[in-house]
Amino acid sequence: MRIALGGISHETNTYADAVTGTTGLDRFGIRRGDRMLRARATDTFVGGFLDACDTLGAEPVPTLWAWAGPSGTVTADAYATLRGELLERIAAVLPVDAVALELHGAGVVDGIDDLEGDLGAAVRSLVGPDVPIVAALDLHGTITEAMVDTFDVFFGNEC
Ligand SMILES: [Zn+2]
Repeated sequence: MRIALGGISHETNTYADAVTGTTGLDRFGIRRGDRMLRARATDTFVGGFLDACDTLGAEPVPTLWAWAGPSGTVTADAYATLRGELLERIAAVLPVDAVALELHGAGVVDGIDDLEGDLGAAVRSLVGPDVPIVAALDLHGTITEAMVDTFDVFFGNEC
């Protein structure tokens, strides 16, 4: 069993744009490919995914993992870049048996109110209707109808 791992995680506070500025690509930490495996046994979403893969005897297939601290609206350019690379990397490792994404649930992009719904739909169109897509969310993530339509399971974190 092969499980693609990835994510774009951002807690967007749209009201904070005036204080923090918008959130460009330079605000994101990014790990690509095998560098994601260094998160094994760490107290992170991806670390949890890796531990679960070990427990299941599944092969983790790392793609792109990007995250930024809470701040203002994600710029359209930053999201397009991260989304494009994540989708390319997932497409490159297909077929997989499942996809596990670290998201936040409160991501907002300039021009896209529902980062997670948009990203989930794009991943769904890549993998087809039968591959489970799961997401880890922060506890105060906003779960939209678009997300419910796309994802199979959501996990809330406990921090
Ligand atoms: Zn949060």
